[in-house]
Amino acid sequence: MRMLGAGGGAVELTSGTTGHRRWYPRGSLRCGTAPDRCVDASASVSTRGDRYDVRTMSDATPDPRHQPSEGAPRDRLGRLPRDLRISVTDRCNFRCTYCMPAEIFGRDFAFLPRSQILRYEEIVRLAAIFARLGVEKLRITGGEPTVRRDLPDLVRQLAAIEGERDLTLTTNGSALRALAAPLADAGLRRIAVSLDSLDDAVFRAMSGADMPVARVLDGIEAACEAGLAPVKVNMVVRRGNNEASIVPMARWARDAGLILRYIEYMDVGTTNGWRMDDVVPRAEILALVDGVFPLEALPPNYPGEVATRFRYRDGAGEIGVIGSVTAPFCGACTRARLSAEGELFTCLFAARGTDLRGPLRAGADDAELEARIRAVWGARDDRYSELRSAGTANLSRVEMFVIGG
Ligand code: SAM
Ligand code: SF4
Ligand code: SF4
Repeated sequence: MRMLGAGGGAVELTSGTTGHRRWYPRGSLRCGTAPDRCVDASASVSTRGDRYDVRTMSDATPDPRHQPSEGAPRDRLGRLPRDLRISVTDRCNFRCTYCMPAEIFGRDFAFLPRSQILRYEEIVRLAAIFARLGVEKLRITGGEPTVRRDLPDLVRQLAAIEGERDLTLTTNGSALRALAAPLADAGLRRIAVSLDSLDDAVFRAMSGADMPVARVLDGIEAACEAGLAPVKVNMVVRRGNNEASIVPMARWARDAGLILRYIEYMDVGTTNGWRMDDVVPRAEILALVDGVFPLEALPPNYPGEVATRFRYRDGAGEIGVIGSVTAPFCGACTRARLSAEGELFTCLFAARGTDLRGPLRAGADDAELEARIRAVWGARDDRYSELRSAGTANLSRVEMFVIGG
């Protein structure tokens, strides 16, 4: 167990059920009060213990109720597991200020040792069980997934799981020049690249990356060349950081045939100092783009799609906006997340996950693992974004780089 940061005490951060402990400086836990939602909500949410039901966060306690052992399981709100996000590492070569602030995740930070990270064959075995439970989409994420060795091998094995399903990857794009073609050859179908600005200074400041933005742009080009088009580009918008990049990014993505998705800055984890004041609401983002390139709404591609879609009226493509702060979509949330150390999380904002690696390495057969997953999904009643308020501000939450986006 290690203590990080100078002074101010420390706070234990999501340990999950595997006993892995991480500590972060208490001074970093500045979760501001929202000017609108949080203040309004505080009138009705007095304390965490009384009117706010903390069981609405992910809870690793399996549901004691009978779960059917056949067919796709439904959670307590009737949602099915359709989408599995697989984090293959908690490491990253960037230090985005909103995800892994450099002052906290410095040289001395203890990332997971290799022995605690799921091996590819373990990931594939679990993914196959999720597939049998009805998961239609697998997304490889991290940390930065491309820092893990031999990633195309994992893609090849995931692509070979029986049945037709989508297989995609979220990456910061820094390694795509070398990896895009091998990943596509291995069976990757689509890719999402995170990029917050075309302006080199803004890019470097937000990503903490020790490389020019040109390297990510080249990676995106490599992904297009490898046939992973249309590439999606995810842009987190943080007030005071990159609002000025909103329209230039739209112009660039239109011209390049990319699907740009703006993401509201979220209060994931407890280390990024999130304040509601730093969120640029999706309505503001849309107004800025619409003012230059008129937009009209598009229907979702499939139920539960996180981004609200818009097309340019001149036919030059589409954009998406993920407004999880100002326009939550928990009712249609069909996402499960597997951390690099093999914990199952059912919400981006959960405090804890459920250990799957332990039973897996202890020799559990597929039926036992499936029963455990069913129990966790059956107990799920997460809807954090709908409940976000002063009452949720100080709850412990897993860091985004632990479970991926
Ligand atoms: N390293 C890869 C990347 O950046 O694409 C994959 C992992 S990253 C955690 C997945 C996504 O989460 C990225 O698109 C990133 O921009 C987004 N993200 C991280 N922290 C966020 C935050 N506080 N608010 C909104 N999105 C965030
Ligand atoms: Fe790394 Fe992705 Fe997090 Fe940025 S958002 S620090 S690239 S894991
Ligand atoms: Fe799903 Fe996000 Fe709502 Fe959690 S907060 S239930 S991850 S939509």
